[in-house]
Amino acid sequence: MIERPPKKEIKNFKLPEFDQPSIYSLSQEELRALAVEWGEAEYRGDQIFEWLYVHRVNQFDEMLNLPKSFREKLAGSYNMDSLETVVRQESKDGTMKFLFRLRDGYTIETVLMRHDYGNSVCVTTQVGCRIGCSFCASTLGGLKRNLEAGEIVSQIVQIQKALDETDERVSSIVIMGIGEPFENYNQMMKFIRVVNHDDGLNIGARHITVSTSGIVPRIYDFAEEDIQINFAVSLHAADNDIRTNLMPINKAYDIDKLMDSLKYYQQKTNRRISFEYGLFGGVNDQPEHARELSELIKDLKCHVNLIPVNHVPERNYVRTTRDDIFEFLETLNECGVNATVRREQGTDIDAACGQLRAKESKEETEE
Ligand code: SAH
Repeated sequence: MIERPPKKEIKNFKLPEFDQPSIYSLSQEELRALAVEWGEAEYRGDQIFEWLYVHRVNQFDEMLNLPKSFREKLAGSYNMDSLETVVRQESKDGTMKFLFRLRDGYTIETVLMRHDYGNSVCVTTQVGCRIGCSFCASTLGGLKRNLEAGEIVSQIVQIQKALDETDERVSSIVIMGIGEPFENYNQMMKFIRVVNHDDGLNIGARHITVSTSGIVPRIYDFAEEDIQINFAVSLHAADNDIRTNLMPINKAYDIDKLMDSLKYYQQKTNRRISFEYGLFGGVNDQPEHARELSELIKDLKCHVNLIPVNHVPERNYVRTTRDDIFEFLETLNECGVNATVRREQGTDIDAACGQLRAKESKEETEE
């Protein structure tokens, strides 16, 4: 049995201070409370929620069953268009990539992936990232700020509106865009509860996956959330030296600490964990690394997702050869580890990890 260490408060990185917060940051309960606070009936909150997520209106004025004065007051206090679409690219395989401009001028990206089992959206949780992984494009400019919950929710609403054109729906979400979601924990959890709500977008918890680089104190908190969402951890190495080189966060939370928190998570939830393991040529991609990995995770109910490294111009990692990928996979399977290789999508539109945003800001500075 693993005992949880004392709760650790981490100061949250700064949130934006807009005069008008995003209306999409409010849960259904908060909308009800707002209605009551403003002297309206509680059910008005449910009506707003329905306008936002079922009818997906663009302006408060379209919320026709609300009193006009209430609509005006809402419009004077809350924002409904926190994301402006700057670029919308579509790949031959149906993948769509959106670059959105936030109200303070920063840009973020969101990707829609088409699978035979449905449409999946990869959302961003921070403007930039401060985790500093040595292979990742998202961290190159550092962290500017956290997104407020409504800015994360709006990414889904915007993409759902694009899918409304063809009568499709967002059926799953991966919280794997730019940023470290566990460094914006409270807003991320708010986001999940809004999009999951069955009076709204109704995206099932089992269709939502969050991925962390391993912010251990938040893994303990996450283990205690009463929600059935899928959990992925970017591991990338079973050896502390290799992992620290790839992911400096390993200095703060090394593999032992990480494993303890994951055992605690499993003890509490009995849910399977997904490990992301990027294959970096000559760094962590040999059969001995696969054996070390299987030894490390043998007591966990888990799955390994192998990610052949995406080329990032500023980073000089090389791709593992097809033969070596196959051998790595075989070695894991022989050791009894359940593993697959991640399929790539949208390579013709820079859909990998922070590439569009990186390119865009480079072009902006070159102008
Ligand atoms: N910050 C979170 C969410 C990002 S998820 C996390 O670290 O888990 C995106 C996944 O893609 C992570 O596993 C990340 O390590 C991986 N990744 C980032 N850049 C990559 C690259 N150039 N090649 C392969 N995988 C990459």
